[in-house]
Amino acid sequence: MKLTADQIAQLEEETVLFCQEMIQIPSVNYGEGKGDERLIAEYVAGKLSEVGIVAELIESAPNRVNVVAKIAGSDITRPGLVLHGHLDVVPADASDWSLDPFSGEIKDGFIWGRGAVDMKDMDAMLLASVRMWQRVGYKPPRNILLIFFADEEASGTYGSRWLVKNRPELFKGFTEAISEVGGFSVTITGDHRLYLIESAQKGIQWLKLSAKGTAGHGSFINTDNAVTKISNAVSRIGSYEWPQVPTKTNKLLFKKIADLTGDTFDPANFKNLLKHLGSAAKMIGATLTNTANPTMLEAGYKANVIPQSASAVVDGRFLPGHESELVETITKLAG
Ligand SMILES: [Zn+2]
Repeated sequence: MKLTADQIAQLEEETVLFCQEMIQIPSVNYGEGKGDERLIAEYVAGKLSEVGIVAELIESAPNRVNVVAKIAGSDITRPGLVLHGHLDVVPADASDWSLDPFSGEIKDGFIWGRGAVDMKDMDAMLLASVRMWQRVGYKPPRNILLIFFADEEASGTYGSRWLVKNRPELFKGFTEAISEVGGFSVTITGDHRLYLIESAQKGIQWLKLSAKGTAGHGSFINTDNAVTKISNAVSRIGSYEWPQVPTKTNKLLFKKIADLTGDTFDPANFKNLLKHLGSAAKMIGATLTNTANPTMLEAGYKANVIPQSASAVVDGRFLPGHESELVETITKLAG
């Protein structure tokens, strides 16, 4: 699709304006079923109908409203693509903010407000883009299913989950979906901006450890203390340095980072390149190894009573294909 300078300017103007206007419609999701996306859903459907796109408002529970629209593609031999956003936002306590969280104000060159980055920004981009398609008569190659979900911030009970369960026919013939996260930009050393694409996800292994010992009074000698045992196990697991697991995608990514920053590329150690990633290092660093973080501890009920048992929970994450290695290592570390 080729656009003139005027059309590009219009696309930008609409994106900014829609993002601001959507922030001004609160659509807060308080969890446990409490939320209201009606007004914002009507706003979105209105913007679509202005350019002749018919949208269906699907109410899954009172005022939990999803917006669905289909745009025909030019190549019917290809499977369809879902483009989706969510309309709800998490609550915002105005006293934590220097600006009204629902103002959508522009300051220092940024739009401010709850939802400005999650995800009324992308909702606005989607809306402005499909409106431009309609204006210039552009047909995307694939059929498009455009959805603005309710209730994403509280597990999707009245949004994506509800639609998949109650309206499966909507998704028939659509094989891929694009939405927030999965890909985002990161600025690395030298002011290079990388646009990352997620190629896979790590798996989850939540493990519960329990230790048994001999109960007794806190004033006596006790060499079989369950709390001591669980603490030692948790400490070994939490401080273990996981070895790098090379994958095809992280090899490509870190080669690129080395090239761009002029740093050394050592296939056996990508960790030395993480320093170039700024605040993204914590997250991208986790794609290099399995990880296991102790997250919960439970033991005892009184200061002077040694309990008979103690337990801990470990949040383990493994790279694709490395699940048994994770479990075996944790089991060994637990002792
Ligand atoms: Zn989001």
